[in-house]
Amino acid sequence: MRRKNEKTEDVKRWFLQEVERLWPLALGSLSLRRGPCIRPNCPVCASGEGHASWALSGRQGGRRFSLYVPQGVMPEVQQAVKQGRQLQELMREAGQRYLASLKRARGLGREFRRKARKR
Ligand SMILES: [Zn+2]
Repeated sequence: MRRKNEKTEDVKRWFLQEVERLWPLALGSLSLRRGPCIRPNCPVCASGEGHASWALSGRQGGRRFSLYVPQGVMPEVQQAVKQGRQLQELMREAGQRYLASLKRARGLGREFRRKARKR
């Protein structure tokens, strides 16, 4: 597709295709935490050291969340977090292309000169 002439609908189609390709998605950070397990009389817990486990954490609507991530699904969740960051980059690009297509559609070019940048 030629980006030069793309319309807002083209930007939408491109964006949705990319999102489809990027699934699974997650936003947050993966970190190791230590805590007790559910087994009774566990020697590791009794030692006070606790068990290391992965957690997906972040903020949702101003609230912190931290979810246990079992070892068995770590690769999938890692991939989702990586692709979540790619989605953020994709949205940055989408916004720029959307704006360009809007201006093109309405015949609005540059009305102001860019300030010369100092070196
Ligand atoms: Zn334990």
